[in-house]
Amino acid sequence: MNFSDKPLTSVPPIIAIDGPAGAGKSSVAIRLAAFLGLPYLDTGAMYRAVGLMAHRQGWRPPLDPATDGPKISRLAEGRLRLVPEAERMRVWVDHVEVTDEIRSPECSAMASAVSALSEVRRALVPEQRRMGLLNGGVMEGRDIGSVVFPDAALKVFLTASPRTRAERRYRELTARGLDVSLEEVLKDQSERDLRDSSRADSPLQVASGAVVVDTSGMELDEVVERLAALFLDVKRPADSASAIHEGEK
Ligand code: C5P
Repeated sequence: MNFSDKPLTSVPPIIAIDGPAGAGKSSVAIRLAAFLGLPYLDTGAMYRAVGLMAHRQGWRPPLDPATDGPKISRLAEGRLRLVPEAERMRVWVDHVEVTDEIRSPECSAMASAVSALSEVRRALVPEQRRMGLLNGGVMEGRDIGSVVFPDAALKVFLTASPRTRAERRYRELTARGLDVSLEEVLKDQSERDLRDSSRADSPLQVASGAVVVDTSGMELDEVVERLAALFLDVKRPADSASAIHEGEK
C-alpha cells in the first residue's frame, strides 16, 4: 500500500470497531493498531473483569437490573487496573492479573449479563473515553461507534455468519486447551448475540456512519488492509447519517 500522500488528520484518532462475538474484531483491531501505531483498546475486557468479580461473589445470569445493577456496578470501584499492550489489554483485579482468566466461557456469559446493566455501563464508559482521549486508539466493543465515540475518525461494524463466527471461537478456545464443543460455542454465541442486541441500554447495532464489513471468507490481512485504507483515505464524511454497506458503494 502507498499512503505517503495521505496525511493523518485527527490527532489522536479513534477507530471504533464494533460487532458481534467472533466477527474477528480483536485480531483485526490488534493488527490495525500495530499497523497505524495506535494503542489497542479492548472494552470487552472491562465488562469481562466486572463479570468475573460478580461471578466470584456468587452472581449468575440472569441478573435483575433493579437489584443487581447498583451492587454490581459498585464492585469494580477502585479495584480494576488496565494496561493496553500491543497484542492485548492486560487486566488486574485487586492487584492480581486476570488477563487470561476473563477469557473463560463463564466470564463471557457473565460479561454479557453485567453489560446489560445501565449502572455498569455508566461506570465503565467514562473510563473508556478517558483511555481513548489519552492517545487515541483502535477501540473494539459493541457500542464504541454508537455511544462511546460517536465522532470517531472511522467507525466499522465487523460481522460474519453465525457459523463462521462460532468456528473461529471454537478454534480459539480449543487452541487454549479448553474442552468445548462447536455446538456449545454456537449456543453460547447465539444467547450472547441475542442479549447484546436486544438490551435496552447501548444495544449492539450498526452505528450511524459505520462501514459494515462482512469478514466471512476474508483473510485477516485482507480485512486489516481494507480498514487501514478506509482510515487513511478518510472517505467517509464525519456527519454521514446512515450506515454504509461495503457492497453498496
Ligand atoms: O468483546 P468481548 O466478547 O470480550 O465482550 C464481552 C461482552 O461484553 C460482550 O458479549 C458484550 O456483552 C459486552 N460488551 C459490551 N460493550 C462493549 C464491549 C463488550 O456490552 N463495548
